[in-house]
Amino acid sequence: MAWFGSAFGSKAKASTQSSPHTAVQSAPAPSVRPPVASSSNPERELRILELGSEMLDIARTHKSGMLSKQFYQDKIMDWSMKDHNFKVQMFRFVDAFPALTTPDMVHDHLVDYMTQPGVKAPPGMDLALKAGGVAKSLAAKTISGQITGMAKNFIAGTNAADALPMLSKLWKQGISFSVDLLGEACVSSAEADAYQAKYLDLVENLVGTASGWPASDRLEKDHVGIVPRVNVSIKVTSLCALFNPIAPESSTADFMKRATPIFEAAKRNGVLINFDMEQFELKDLTLDTFMHACDTHEFEAGLAMQAYLKSGVADAKRISEWAVRTGRVVTVRLVKGAYWDFETIHAEQEGWPCPVWHEKWQTDQCFEDMVEVFLDHCPTEPGQGGIKLALGSHNVRSIGAALAGLDKRGLPRESIELQMLHGMADQLKHAAEQMGLRVREYVPVGEMIPGMAYLVRRLLENTSNESWLKAGFLDNANTATLLADPASLAPAELKQDLVDIAAQRHGLSLADPKVGNGLPFYSEPLRDFAEDDQREAFGRAVAGAAVPSVANDRTVEQGVAMLDEAQAAFPAWRDFDPYLRSKVLTLTAQMMRDRRDELSGIMCKEARKAWREADADVCEAIDFCEYYARMAPSLTEPSRLGKFIGELDELWYQPKGVAVVISPWNFPLAICCGMTVAALVTGNTVVVKPAEQTPGIGKAMFDMISDALRQVGAPSGVLHFCPAPGETTGAALVRDPRVNVIAFTGSKAVGLNIIEAAGVTPEEQSHVKRVVCEMGGKNAVIVDASADLDEAVLGIRYSAFGFQGQKCSACSRCIVIDPEGPGGQRMKLFLERLGESTKTLVLGEATDPNADVSPVIDGEASGNIYRFIESARSEGLTELVGAKDFPETDIADLIAPHIFTGVTETSTIYTQEIFGPVLAVIHAKDFDEAMRMANGHAYKLTGGIFTRKPTHIDRAKREFRVGNLYVNRGCTGALVGRQPFGGFGMSGVGSKAGGPEYLMQFVDPRACCENTMRRGFAPEL
Ligand SMILES: Cc1cc2nc3c(=O)[nH]c(=O)nc-3n(C[C@H](O)[C@H](O)[C@H](O)COP(=O)(O)OP(=O)(O)OC[C@H]3O[C@@H](n4cnc5c(N)ncnc54)[C@H](O)[C@@H]3O)c2cc1C
Repeated sequence: MAWFGSAFGSKAKASTQSSPHTAVQSAPAPSVRPPVASSSNPERELRILELGSEMLDIARTHKSGMLSKQFYQDKIMDWSMKDHNFKVQMFRFVDAFPALTTPDMVHDHLVDYMTQPGVKAPPGMDLALKAGGVAKSLAAKTISGQITGMAKNFIAGTNAADALPMLSKLWKQGISFSVDLLGEACVSSAEADAYQAKYLDLVENLVGTASGWPASDRLEKDHVGIVPRVNVSIKVTSLCALFNPIAPESSTADFMKRATPIFEAAKRNGVLINFDMEQFELKDLTLDTFMHACDTHEFEAGLAMQAYLKSGVADAKRISEWAVRTGRVVTVRLVKGAYWDFETIHAEQEGWPCPVWHEKWQTDQCFEDMVEVFLDHCPTEPGQGGIKLALGSHNVRSIGAALAGLDKRGLPRESIELQMLHGMADQLKHAAEQMGLRVREYVPVGEMIPGMAYLVRRLLENTSNESWLKAGFLDNANTATLLADPASLAPAELKQDLVDIAAQRHGLSLADPKVGNGLPFYSEPLRDFAEDDQREAFGRAVAGAAVPSVANDRTVEQGVAMLDEAQAAFPAWRDFDPYLRSKVLTLTAQMMRDRRDELSGIMCKEARKAWREADADVCEAIDFCEYYARMAPSLTEPSRLGKFIGELDELWYQPKGVAVVISPWNFPLAICCGMTVAALVTGNTVVVKPAEQTPGIGKAMFDMISDALRQVGAPSGVLHFCPAPGETTGAALVRDPRVNVIAFTGSKAVGLNIIEAAGVTPEEQSHVKRVVCEMGGKNAVIVDASADLDEAVLGIRYSAFGFQGQKCSACSRCIVIDPEGPGGQRMKLFLERLGESTKTLVLGEATDPNADVSPVIDGEASGNIYRFIESARSEGLTELVGAKDFPETDIADLIAPHIFTGVTETSTIYTQEIFGPVLAVIHAKDFDEAMRMANGHAYKLTGGIFTRKPTHIDRAKREFRVGNLYVNRGCTGALVGRQPFGGFGMSGVGSKAGGPEYLMQFVDPRACCENTMRRGFAPEL
């Protein structure tokens, strides 16, 4: 296997492999950083240059250590930095690696990733990819060894006991530590309990061992007192499965329940507890929780704060002022932030302003500004409240700036601490220690699976062109460049936030200067419940919302009278200015925006929608208005086909006539609005019959559209609101011969009945009715053998139980692949995590922001769902989760989430649509079987797959025949314009809502061919 070794072999071999490395080495020093142009404060800059140069000089004489040249020379890293496509696929493979339980799986996945388009495997690895038989296992073993080796660079052991010899060695070298427990996403209270036990174990037991180590003044004393020898880093999310900014009080309370014994033990043992900082969404809640913990418990406390956040300086001031005000001393570990890519991507996906700086120099500048704030609040004598600063950085410029800040204030070196990650920058740790600084290593311990996310973060960070370490120790940038003032790197023009250019960037619809804001459509952003203002305003609106009182009492005669008027209004509306029709929609969208929280409140109360669901419903309704408004005008405009001389061929569309809209209760605003405005904007007149359960929100919608119609001077009689029983008035409406188009969303039974009735054409009817019909789903999500279970558990839990499973897109069949059989390890692990995670959901009224699961729509629905639950029991299925697992409540129609296992393909709950919080989990032995099962249902609406095998993603795209397929995410929540929604088979007829063809269903095409030639002469010639 020499070929393989040469590419991925031992470090000794790798370091002598010259060509790829030489290529990197000979690359010019980073020219991305312009030379230092000016300095904001020459004296300060000079001092930083002195201090930084001193540290760099010492570091560069210290040969050993990771993230030196040797680290980067490792072939995987080396090739990753040369070939972006290889890096992406390799890091994806690394991420999937711990889930690959056999050499065959390892090899198959490696082949899959390395044969993706555009990927060029490094020399030697290409042969490994072709290996068969014994060579295949050997190749798998080699690559496994490489990845495990890489992980060991950064992760000190599987647990603290494992890491102890290393911690003791560090101490002897003059370096302190903070132990961090690596964890998978904590998805259940059971998992949070397990983390609590591990943290307690650390806090109780590390001290015993560490107390035997020799004393060290430098490591254990700062300028105002004692520095705890043992330092443990915790993540708030690992102690609370529902740490959710939408419900801050209960999140903090749940966290404190598990954290309090840890704080007490920390106090007893003199251990410092440091709160790590995670995603921006949790930042404010973490800060509040931290301050609450410090206000209520006495323990040595620390907190990580991130400088890549635009809010960095404000956050620094907030925590500093609190510390001084309350007389509390806390340590702040100032870091730049580990989730920059995630935050950038997530903000764009949500349509929110990006919370992190766009450019690296801004992060660096913010770091220095935050340093200044913290040093200004550093306690100068024992007993004084304030901030002790710890610098979590490997960037010598950033460190130098802080040291200069100390000098300026006359603070001694021991008043700050340097913290660096295990496995990184050993040279710098050595240099800092030589300069008399207190250095602490952040030491992660944990198993391979949870370790991978951490490892991938480190690999990404270290191979990034923005990495200071890479510039300093691989690219050998010169000292002046490495120590340049970040402010001097500011370009003349700052990058724009993606959200400000989102509409143009994505071009999701046509753009017409005469429609809306003249830009293409872009999704209405959801409320960001992490923002106090938004959350509080929403809560007030929900509390104050009044559901319009509407009786479903319109008779058949009244319905018929509406059709009379709609028919009479049609010609004028048909010939109305299409741009004014579009304006009706954009005006309506604006009215909804102005009232959005109130509209959500109406739905929370009337449709029992939880906060987020109600908010999403309003946003979707706005989106339908804005999207269709942009797509409609061009339809009436004749478009020329071809360029024949003497012949003008044109195509355009005209409205069909009278439309009847019959809408469901589960998206009582969005779907009702989408169908109504699609019909209206294309020039049809409309009679809307809302669901009997939700006429109130229907009325609110009707009033807003009517107002918009008035504003544009629309003829009267264009839109009618007909709250009425479906069996009588609804049935009569769809059967009326004057109706041209019926837009229906609802159950299969009613949908098929409408299709059948629409097919009957009495003598006096002058047209064939068009039915746009969306009926239902029995949607399956596959969990592949290499799936990321953190993602799969949360994605499936939300898809199955979000809005109590009352979405046609909801997941109701979960197909888990485990080659070992239904009792296999993979299946067991998934079921355990899904089950425990589901039990963590909170049941309550929809108006309560804490509630994850609220009552189903009404008593009839709950009776129906209970019958399915009974059928599952009587068929002998295993109730993995059920009512027994939740506290009893007396809230009517509140059905606990149910998960059944032992399901077969003939089980009732597997075959029938339930429309409630019931999930059937079935085992599949392999991917082929899973695909057959997934496709084995007449409904073809949504489907999902969690997998990290590229060929399985490709196959699912080709073979999983559903209207909307979701890969590695939940299967609900389609967005207008981005994920046009709708199925086929028994799920419905018609094209996708929120898609480019939807409006075509409300129009008839017309074509004209004009002979423009007169006596052999044509104008074009
Ligand atoms: C002891 C310790 C504890 C840590 N704990 C945490 C923690 O709790 N939470 C956390 O999030 N991180 C934490 N980190 C990780 C830390 O955020 C990263 O290691 C750090 O970002 C690397 O910064 P640097 O100064 O060493 O390197 P540099 O190379 O100077 O900075 C790299 C950083 O710059 C930022 N960046 C990269 N590109 C851009 C860009 N285009 N625009 C703007 N900014 C950019 C990113 O934050 C990136 O990580 C910790 C680090 C240490 C050393």
